[in-house]
Amino acid sequence: MINTKININEAINFGANELKNITKRARYESEILLSGAIKKDKIYIILNNSYFISESETEIFKNYIFRRKNGEPIEYIIEKVSFYSMNFYISKGALIPRPESEILVDLAFELLKNKKNANILEIGVGSGAVSIAVAIKLQNSKIVAIDISRDALKIAHKNIKIFNLEDRIELIESNLFENIKNINFDLIISNPPYISLNEKGKLQRELDFEPDEALYGGEVGDEVLKKIIETWFLRNETLLLCEMGYDQKENIINLINNRAKIEFFKDLAGFDRGFILKKIFNI
Ligand code: GLN
Repeated sequence: MINTKININEAINFGANELKNITKRARYESEILLSGAIKKDKIYIILNNSYFISESETEIFKNYIFRRKNGEPIEYIIEKVSFYSMNFYISKGALIPRPESEILVDLAFELLKNKKNANILEIGVGSGAVSIAVAIKLQNSKIVAIDISRDALKIAHKNIKIFNLEDRIELIESNLFENIKNINFDLIISNPPYISLNEKGKLQRELDFEPDEALYGGEVGDEVLKKIIETWFLRNETLLLCEMGYDQKENIINLINNRAKIEFFKDLAGFDRGFILKKIFNI
């Protein structure tokens, strides 16, 4: 371990070596963790790699490396995540937003770009990344964002404050539609938990650090998605936009059973990743 004072370059080498067995991008992650530990950006680190870091910074950095070696996602350690080219605050109480969920933002924009003052509901706001990105893209929109988790709501609130969107995004603690029965929205958007409980413990170690209620939808996985869809059928909203698991298309088609128009979309890796549902009105 490190005993004497070390410089930036030595610290990065130490971290890269420690992490080499747990990640393919050990050096890159070591740089990010160091940058978090000394609260300086990447450019500072590159330009000043012979600068010494203080003993307390070294301790923080060693702790970050230890946590990462233990499987904790880098985003939780540095409390930062990039989504839709923006930086969000993140910590353990909320799912780390994934790049594939950026598609939800683009689709919400496409669906509502011609609608002035759109009203949107997000079910399962998590860190707030999706609602915030949508609010920024759709200038005059208003969003009600709900979550069952108080910890997630706190994280979302912090991000909403950072982005100055408190007047456009309202947070409500609610189990699915429970506390929002009487409001009518132009779009409902959701990235619900959709992984099967049977997968718990068998996936990447990093997932063990994320909230179960944000990941696992039930024994099959699609239980929460199905509840959202069935409740949507009983409500007034025309449009429902959801993310889903790569293998859930058939189940969703069967559930819909031609009661609504459905369009599926894929993620950048080519996997089925979600759908847009539109109600069919017979005149
Ligand atoms: N896409 C996430 C993952 O595979 C899961 C998120 C979710 O269940 N909504 O890790």
